[in-house]
Amino acid sequence: MNLIIVESPTKSKTISKFLDKEYKVLSSYGHVRDLPKNQLGVDLDDNFKPKYVIPTKARKAVKELKDAAKKAKLIILGTDSDREGEAIAWHIAQILKLDKENSQRIVFHEITKSAIEQALKNPRQLDTNLINAQQARRILDRLVGYKLSPFLWKKVVKGLSAGRVQSVTVKLIVDREREIEKFKPEEYWTIVASLFKKQEFDAKLIKIDNKRLSKLDIKTKQEADKILTDLKQAQYKISDIKKKEVQKYPSPPFTTSTLQQDAARKLYFSAKQTMVIAQQLYEAGLITYHRTDSLNLSDQALIALHQFIKSKFGSEYNLTQPRIYKTKSKGAQEAHETIRPTQIDAQPDQIKQRLDQRQRKLYDLIWRRAIACQMAPARFDSTSLEIEANTCIFKATGQILKFDGFLKIYPTKFQEVELPLLTKGEVLKLIKLFSEQHFTKPPARYTEASLVKTLEEYGIGRPSTYAPIISTIQERGYTEKNDQKRFIPTEIGFIVTDLLKENFPKIVDIKFTAYLEKDLDKIAQGRQNWLAILKEFYQPFQENLDKKYEEVKKKNLDQPTDKKCPKCGSPMVIKLGRFGKFYACSAFPDCRHTEPIINSTGTTCPECNQGQIAKRRTKKGKIFYSCSRYPKCKYALWDEPINEKCPECNSILVKKGNQIKCSNKECNYKQSHGNKRVSGKIKKD
Ligand SMILES: [Zn+2]
Ligand SMILES: [Zn+2]
Ligand SMILES: [Zn+2]
Repeated sequence: MNLIIVESPTKSKTISKFLDKEYKVLSSYGHVRDLPKNQLGVDLDDNFKPKYVIPTKARKAVKELKDAAKKAKLIILGTDSDREGEAIAWHIAQILKLDKENSQRIVFHEITKSAIEQALKNPRQLDTNLINAQQARRILDRLVGYKLSPFLWKKVVKGLSAGRVQSVTVKLIVDREREIEKFKPEEYWTIVASLFKKQEFDAKLIKIDNKRLSKLDIKTKQEADKILTDLKQAQYKISDIKKKEVQKYPSPPFTTSTLQQDAARKLYFSAKQTMVIAQQLYEAGLITYHRTDSLNLSDQALIALHQFIKSKFGSEYNLTQPRIYKTKSKGAQEAHETIRPTQIDAQPDQIKQRLDQRQRKLYDLIWRRAIACQMAPARFDSTSLEIEANTCIFKATGQILKFDGFLKIYPTKFQEVELPLLTKGEVLKLIKLFSEQHFTKPPARYTEASLVKTLEEYGIGRPSTYAPIISTIQERGYTEKNDQKRFIPTEIGFIVTDLLKENFPKIVDIKFTAYLEKDLDKIAQGRQNWLAILKEFYQPFQENLDKKYEEVKKKNLDQPTDKKCPKCGSPMVIKLGRFGKFYACSAFPDCRHTEPIINSTGTTCPECNQGQIAKRRTKKGKIFYSCSRYPKCKYALWDEPINEKCPECNSILVKKGNQIKCSNKECNYKQSHGNKRVSGKIKKD
């Protein structure tokens, strides 16, 4: 019997379907060894030797693997085809004491019969470079986390954490917030003429006295009014017509980063959700490996795409030559493929009974994107008209879709504007001339999508790390999302970031973090020694840390109040904890009385009609709303209540995203947010 070991039970189930009785497939249920939780686990006096332990939850799986391994002739390690997968395979090999004679490593980028058969025909040995790159990442992260966090406990607040990539990411959000605070909107005006000849259309003022207007050139209403007065009586005449065909090309196929961005924008999935669902699709054999930064499509995939497009849409939608996309970031030996369906002709509605709703949506997105990337571009007829009026030039642009191309399967937003067929010199009738006031806008706060994009652009994340980073910065209480799902730093986020910026500038430096990520890539490629990288990082880091323990004084963040402690009568102070402010007795540690600060929403508790509904946080940092009289009244809900009752069942109404809905689960009452248009009852499916 040959034993194949993978890291997940679903994956093992899918693989065993392809193989005969000669093979047994078992799962390790994730990591079988890791650094210990309760200590550093890295021997600083012995070349950063990691002390790995078998976590309690892995013991059962390890025993099973050991028993099965005894009976096996050959043990084949089939964990995921990236550094983390390689490291898991290595840990398994270490525990089972495997050697080159009795074990093999196989890699595949999709869980299909042909891919598994191919992989079994081409086994290799474990790749030490990939393993070391993963170990180096684990140890670097451990050193920063376990050394710097206690510093924050001592100097700021207990329970805080610092992290190698985490802290830079929080800094991005803090910096953005400061830019927004500093931002001063500037006023500017635009001028539009509604003109008529055969049909009405709008044209925008672009030139005055032969000088092209830039955005902020018309600054005040007075300036705009003067232009309007000058042009009221002018003659409007076509001075130039330009026609051309414009092509719009499809986006490249998905990488981890672009999949997370698109799923956030189109499906409102968090990065974490996207990864969980993509993993399910991968393990079910439906898509290629979902942790990748490669844009490469295999030859078989290109052929399958070509055939599918031809039979489904016809030759005019096909390409004569495949469109090849160049991968920006290259990690040798991690030569992955882009994320695509394993079977191009597995259309979403044909396999939908196998999938739940969210899996279906994500699969649909991946399927469409992969097909679109090998389809003909969309073609537009574009017209631009220039209209002369006195010494001014107005411009109107029209765009008509001539051929939909890839848009047939991957619709994207575009606007069609039709302009009348006119000739040079024709005089137009002025219907209306008007000005519009605008203000420049501050940079936007990050969404999950734009944050992933930024991390990738700066080179401070990798396909396996985007989603965990984004979860961590929220769970640790450094950032939260506003009601538009955009990141804002918390108070403690500002304080810790400023402290790190001042005292550990490298830890929050984008360039330094990106440089370390590159070093890890080099280790994976065998071009860099991992111990050298650890040493180069650790020595200056520890020296600086020792110095800062001496230098930096504990931050006193307490704010005095008039409130007296109900237990001992001492004054209460406002303290800042991991998850915000609370009242604490100033006689601490003699008196340990604390009280939450009631963040009232101004809504009366519907259950006891005495308390106020207050905004609170769970231990994990998730926001919820509950009665201020807790524990006497236990009323609580996840969504923010508004001070209004449901017209249908009289329960309290809550805000959910952009909607106002009834908090009663059995009631379907909904309103659009802002305008209180009732959309009526929506049937549950
Ligand atoms: Zn007290
Ligand atoms: Zn109550
Ligand atoms: Zn209701």
